[in-house]
Amino acid sequence: MQFSEYGLSEEQRALCASVRELCARYPEAYWRELDGQSAYPTDFIRALTEGGYLAAMIPEPYGGMGLGVTEGGLILEEINRSGGNSAPGHAQMYIMGTLLRHGSEAQKEAYLPGIAKGQIRLQAFGVTEPDAGLDTTNISTTAVRRGDRYLVTGRKVFISRVQHSDMMLLLCRTTPKEQRTRRTEGLSVLLVDLQQARGHGLEVRPIETMVNHHTTELTMEEMEVPVENLVGEEGQGFRYILDSMNAERILVASESIGDGRYFIERAVDYANKRNVFGRPIGQNQGVQFPIARAYAAVEAARLMRDRAADMFDHGENPGQEANMAKLLGSEAAWLAGNTCMDVHGGYAYAREFDIERKFRETRLYMTAPVTNNLVLSYLGQTVLGLPRSF
Ligand SMILES: Cc1cc2nc3c(=O)[nH]c(=O)nc-3n(C[C@H](O)[C@H](O)[C@H](O)COP(=O)(O)OP(=O)(O)OC[C@H]3O[C@@H](n4cnc5c(N)ncnc54)[C@H](O)[C@@H]3O)c2cc1C
Repeated sequence: MQFSEYGLSEEQRALCASVRELCARYPEAYWRELDGQSAYPTDFIRALTEGGYLAAMIPEPYGGMGLGVTEGGLILEEINRSGGNSAPGHAQMYIMGTLLRHGSEAQKEAYLPGIAKGQIRLQAFGVTEPDAGLDTTNISTTAVRRGDRYLVTGRKVFISRVQHSDMMLLLCRTTPKEQRTRRTEGLSVLLVDLQQARGHGLEVRPIETMVNHHTTELTMEEMEVPVENLVGEEGQGFRYILDSMNAERILVASESIGDGRYFIERAVDYANKRNVFGRPIGQNQGVQFPIARAYAAVEAARLMRDRAADMFDHGENPGQEANMAKLLGSEAAWLAGNTCMDVHGGYAYAREFDIERKFRETRLYMTAPVTNNLVLSYLGQTVLGLPRSF
């Protein structure tokens, strides 16, 4: 079936077609096998890197494609729509939100060309902590300056792809909580060289999850980071990280939309082919209407994603649009996934059908990178001006 490509330029359509072509070399059996072995898609990530796609958002002078989050989103959407999973490679794109806007020229020159060539992997984004949870401004991992180094001590949890990355963008505290004047002040962003840090103050413990996600718990004990790896100004890190968070919400919304389109395509195909009671199951409105409803939800979420991405690429702050895109995208994908499960009856549970794997994978985006409850409280309190609950 055909999905709308309304609003896409010729170049964007060509980009989608070339990603689709690449993904066709990595069919669902590839992802199923990795899922069964909890293995990282090394070949696929290499192919994406060699195709330049993971450097889509890196400006051309540094060796990237010089495209925006709009195109980044289209790439991830196509991967998920093909039956694959973008998560093992998506962080490089959203981390660019902070690095491009707030990194120094020296940092960009030091890292971006290497990232664009695939020599440096910047795939880890360290924010979540066990004792702070979603209350990000309450984190306790602390960086103390000693001469030309920061010594970082603390714990992070659910930090993904650390074992498949050379660098990590880390949010930590540089001003003690009691000394800050505002909740959002006193946090800083550091670029951590993971190869150097591992075994020298950094311990990494893998966490097994219901999805093949390669996430870990980090323990840092006086982990050394050179001061030149501070991104922007000390104490302003929360503001900087929001640029990555907005990009992340837009990109995750795109992955959800790709999942949603995948589920709808699979549901329609099966509902047309499967005959029970002497007719295709899709002839029953009890089967047909949920697919149609999910389709409408996915396409509507896509419009919000397009608006958020467009604003981001024009240098605006799409806080509410990025959050709404993430909320609507993850809910629509979940609805489409649940519907696809229903449509497939018992076969939905058979691994070889891939629906249950995609169903598990898409569920993550209701929770990460931020839960939908927190999106709703942001919309209620910050956008609509309702009383604060925290
Ligand atoms: C597979 C996976 C990969 C991840 N990768 C990364 C990563 O690479 N980097 C990273 O930094 N983090 C990562 N995360 C962490 C993820 O962003 C967090 O799990 C998520 O933000 C929720 O935090 P928490 O688990 O501490 O939930 P909590 O903060 O403990 O919240 C628990 C529940 O309570 C609800 N809740 C809490 N407070 C409120 C409130 N005031 N109002 C309403 N509801 C509330 C939440 O919505 C949630 O449902 C990952 C998580 C997973 C599962």
